[in-house]
Amino acid sequence: MTKSVSVQENVLSLRQKLKEYDYHYYVLDDPLVSDAQYDRFWQELFRLEQAHPEFITADSPTQKVSGQAVSGSKEVVHAVPMLSLDNVFSEVTLGEFYQRLSDRLKAQEPITFVCEPKLDGLAVSLIYEKGVLVQAATRGDGYVGEDITHNIKTIAAMPLSLRNPNDQAESLPAELEVRAEVFMSKSGFIDLNGRMKVEGGKIFANPRNAAAGSLRQLDPRVAAQRPLEFYCYAVARISSEFQLHTHEQALKQIQAWGLRVNPLLQLVVGVPGLEAYYQTILKQREQLPYEIDGVVFKVNRLDWQEQLGFVARAPRWAVAYKFPAIEATTTLQAVEFQVGRTGVITPVARLQPVEVGGVMISNATLHNMDEVVRLDLRIGDQVVVYRAGDVIPKVVKPILARRPKTACAIMMPSQCPVCGSCLQRIESEAQIRCTAGLFCPAQLIESVRHFASRRALDIEGLGEKLIKQLVDQGMVTTVADLYALELEPLAALERMGIKSAENLLEALQNSKQTTLPKFLYALGIREVGEATALCLAQAFKTLEALMVADEQSLEAVKEVGPVVAGRIVAFFQEPHNRQTIERLQAVGVCWPQISVAEASIEEHPFMGKTVVLTGALQEMTRVQAKEQLQALGAKVSSMVSKKTDYVVVGQDAGSKLKKAQELQIKTLDETTFIRYLTEGLTHDDA
Ligand code: NAD
Repeated sequence: MTKSVSVQENVLSLRQKLKEYDYHYYVLDDPLVSDAQYDRFWQELFRLEQAHPEFITADSPTQKVSGQAVSGSKEVVHAVPMLSLDNVFSEVTLGEFYQRLSDRLKAQEPITFVCEPKLDGLAVSLIYEKGVLVQAATRGDGYVGEDITHNIKTIAAMPLSLRNPNDQAESLPAELEVRAEVFMSKSGFIDLNGRMKVEGGKIFANPRNAAAGSLRQLDPRVAAQRPLEFYCYAVARISSEFQLHTHEQALKQIQAWGLRVNPLLQLVVGVPGLEAYYQTILKQREQLPYEIDGVVFKVNRLDWQEQLGFVARAPRWAVAYKFPAIEATTTLQAVEFQVGRTGVITPVARLQPVEVGGVMISNATLHNMDEVVRLDLRIGDQVVVYRAGDVIPKVVKPILARRPKTACAIMMPSQCPVCGSCLQRIESEAQIRCTAGLFCPAQLIESVRHFASRRALDIEGLGEKLIKQLVDQGMVTTVADLYALELEPLAALERMGIKSAENLLEALQNSKQTTLPKFLYALGIREVGEATALCLAQAFKTLEALMVADEQSLEAVKEVGPVVAGRIVAFFQEPHNRQTIERLQAVGVCWPQISVAEASIEEHPFMGKTVVLTGALQEMTRVQAKEQLQALGAKVSSMVSKKTDYVVVGQDAGSKLKKAQELQIKTLDETTFIRYLTEGLTHDDA
């Protein structure tokens, strides 16, 4: 086989693959591969075609805008084609992009860009005639899209007619075509899938697919129930009586007419400005209420845009700078079952290692068997894996169209995989539990781990491997046994030695001084997290009072409903648990009686206050911090404003800290924040 034949075959094969992926993505809203994988194939094809231009064809995915109108709705021919965007993937290519523009424009001044987040939704064209919305269409193949006017009109924020404050006909253009991205917020997507699950409808893989599927609904009543939103990002056509000079001016103008424009829009100059914007938005990505997959940069001057023009499928004056992918496809190699602290059996996916969001992933939680059934997973499947920020990686779905014949069903074990005891499915719970309690080594290990964790008794040096040895050798059968450990047997354990054993004993000694909320949390009562433990401590003030509390008085506590109250009563009625508590107190585990006792929840410094969290907290997650604040009657907001009372500042805090300083709002570092949470205000703080 000659070299060029094999290149040609390669080109054809890549093209065929990409076309198949396009069909599943654009038409079925059900992608076959992750975007990162698609982009890799696309880049590979592009590279081959650049090296061998003789193989370029007009219908190659590198030469045209992908997608097509779906049969069933009216076709719309776009007066101005709806193009795609070229990508840059690094600072280097960003520099090249800038240089190319600068050379072409022979620019005497630095180039100013409009920067915006790249929303992960779908492009639509909106046409207003004399201020009235007359047509909305999808991008389709860039030249012909489909009419979705009926569905667009169901989006709550979409103006059916433009705002005209002066009420003069000449304030509105005779003709206006705007380009917008329609998307679904992260919370809207979760709600929709939740609803679909109950109704047995289609579960969408991600917000983009959900938005695309919703917009193309033939029945507007269905579309109306979908939580769609939009931001406009360009003016494609405007009648000649309106003279626009810059992209920014165009967006400001349509905003004045009532069309939504992304508030994160910013004007920057030169490559350093572009890079800084990318970094800023990348940091905010997780906190944004919608999914974005990068940022978009557009030359601001419209005369320059015109001068630069287009290549086959994208304008030369704009570029997308994509973020690291948070989704990838890989193979599900096996499913193992883990036993948690309360006996819950959790299926865990063992994956062929794959990079997601810059981290190699080889495990992902599957939550419970209902989830495995809902996803219709089989071992051997190609699966889509999702990982954003520090969130635990998750299997989104199997790719059914690529299921191998050898794929086999996942069977729930009939006995506890660790101790062999019976399993029980509690009615009304999706979980299955091992019934052996602390006799099951896995549960014992997890309870000790929980007890020793930083937010509980914080026993430094007591890691999982050591706990496992202590349990396996029968040295620890309840958490109270930890305080009876002796130097020599400890030192004799694998990878210990005298020094480590001494350190551990010292850490155990130090851990005895704690607080009542931490102690309650450490006990590991089911459903009593840190926030509930704090409320219980505040309400009952002493452990003795809590231990004799009945369900009625427990339910009077904020955060405690009938189920949790029942669990607390049952926990303290259990003789083993009472004995363990007695033993812990006998060896000297104690807490200051005044810690939260004096600060009732009504007097707590966070009660009724507005608090903003920013930066990374070390001792707890954002969600936990939020829960605790809410339990204390605080309102947690995502924006710093004059109404903010406190800004809690974690590591690498950015613009919110700056804003707080500008507005002279009280900031709390994490240590002070935790002290406020657990002890309220002291005289020094007041
Ligand atoms: P694109 O999504 O990379 O970029 C163009 C689009 O960005 C525009 O059409 C518009 O909808 C959108 N956009 C969002 N915010 C914008 C803003 N502020 N300004 C301008 N445009 C904005 O390109 P594409 O042609 O729509 O899609 C190609 C991409 O889609 C691929 O790179 C791949 O990631 C994904 N894809 C994936 C599969 C798959 O199987 N997973 C298949 C096909 C395409």
